[in-house]
Amino acid sequence: MKILAVASEIYPIVKTGGLADVVGALPAALALHGIEVRTLVPGYRPVLAAMKRAKTLHAFDSLMGGPARIRAATVDGLALLCLDAPHLYDRDGGIYGPPGHADWPDNPQRFAALAQAAAAIARDALARGALAPWQPDVVHAHDWQAGLTPAYLRYGAAPRIPSVFTVHNLAFPGWAPAGLLATLGLPPESFTIEGVEFYGGIGFLKAGLRHADQITTVSPTYAAEITRPENGQGLDGLLRTRGADLHGITNGIDTTVWNPAADPLLPARFNGPHARRRGHNKAALQARLGLDAAPGQLLFGVVSRLTRQKGIDLVVETLPALLGLGAQLAVLGAGETDLETELRDAAARHPGRVAVEIGYDESLAHLFQAGVDAFLVPSRFEPCGLTQLCALHYGAVPVVSRVGGLADTVVDANQAALAAHVANGLQFLPVSADGLAAALRRTAGLWADRDAWAHLQRNGMRAEVGWAGPASAYAKIFRTLVVNF
Ligand code: ADP
Repeated sequence: MKILAVASEIYPIVKTGGLADVVGALPAALALHGIEVRTLVPGYRPVLAAMKRAKTLHAFDSLMGGPARIRAATVDGLALLCLDAPHLYDRDGGIYGPPGHADWPDNPQRFAALAQAAAAIARDALARGALAPWQPDVVHAHDWQAGLTPAYLRYGAAPRIPSVFTVHNLAFPGWAPAGLLATLGLPPESFTIEGVEFYGGIGFLKAGLRHADQITTVSPTYAAEITRPENGQGLDGLLRTRGADLHGITNGIDTTVWNPAADPLLPARFNGPHARRRGHNKAALQARLGLDAAPGQLLFGVVSRLTRQKGIDLVVETLPALLGLGAQLAVLGAGETDLETELRDAAARHPGRVAVEIGYDESLAHLFQAGVDAFLVPSRFEPCGLTQLCALHYGAVPVVSRVGGLADTVVDANQAALAAHVANGLQFLPVSADGLAAALRRTAGLWADRDAWAHLQRNGMRAEVGWAGPASAYAKIFRTLVVNF
């Protein structure tokens, strides 16, 4: 079976979050099920640099205002197709916006072009041409950036290829003004509530949810949460209507990249909750960040986008409680300016106790996971979350809010779970400063009991966090879809 994946990021070439991790890891995991994936991504500068020897498969004279080509190459074992369209992707700044801004003004055109190219590849015309004999059986579109793909397939010429749409975060709707309908190549009849119309404009995410044959999201709890008005971002009604086609599949992590026993980025590797070897990493992290060299102080860590979704304001608010427990805090991340400033100020006020690294640093993220004692993820909502999976795998005890994928992957250390020897972390509700402060106190209590703590670590390191289970679930959805289409 052949799958054409369509996404705006892919690890290890271009990443701003968990979407890239998933898109980068799924092809190898699905290959074990006899499924061949090729992934179409925008031709941003780093993508073109990685695809130097790419073959041109197709040229568009004009796609959203300029010439474009579809090119193919294999990079790091990933079969990539890229949409090389300099007028859309060859620019300074981030992949979604200029420095300091969330969005490029032409993002609707940039990602509609990606979706149109995907639909073109999927259709016979192009497949009979340069791409033959590679004809995908299913198109797998990820998040709003690829959301128009199922719509173009639906409104385009027959024969149609089935599609699956995966929601990684419902909070990014991909909205464009209605006036762009013709520019984006959508027919007038698509502009209805049964089509791509969303709050008076065009909803890219909505288009994916409306027109894909099957929908997945990245954890069972999030799949349930988004069908409720309080979490549905205006799409809960549609999601309820499509309930029979909506599946929650918990993400995995790539355990070849995240493997504490063989991680080249660590000063000390370990394959169990080895206190001495982890202690070595903790000391290295404390030294690197300028924290006091204090093996006996409970070290909490955060690696995250610094946003309110991630509950980073709650971390700032509970800092006095954390320090009152005699603990240390280390934060790695970038995001909302006011949160970055508040964290920097906190580090300046508490030298040796609080350290903050503003920025994105993949290798430092590994040292965090191997060196911190407890890993904080106090998200207000969390579709799946990958960092708590890395934490489990690296023997850092996750302390998480009981929402979305966090609820599905962390087993709270309540009395029953401790007695049954299945606990691997802590969950808390409500998602508030008081809720988090209470969780910090519980964490300190467990940390003081070395046997209980080692037990949590051992259970975490044994948890199934790889792609084997999730890949089987995706394979089943693809196969069932093709059989019934
Ligand atoms: P989201 O995609 O919502 O940001 P996830 O937990 O699903 O959150 O995925 C985040 C991914 O990005 C993880 O692989 C995490 O390690 C990584 N990450 C986030 N912030 C940073 C950072 N500042 N430096 C390095 N890696 C980071």
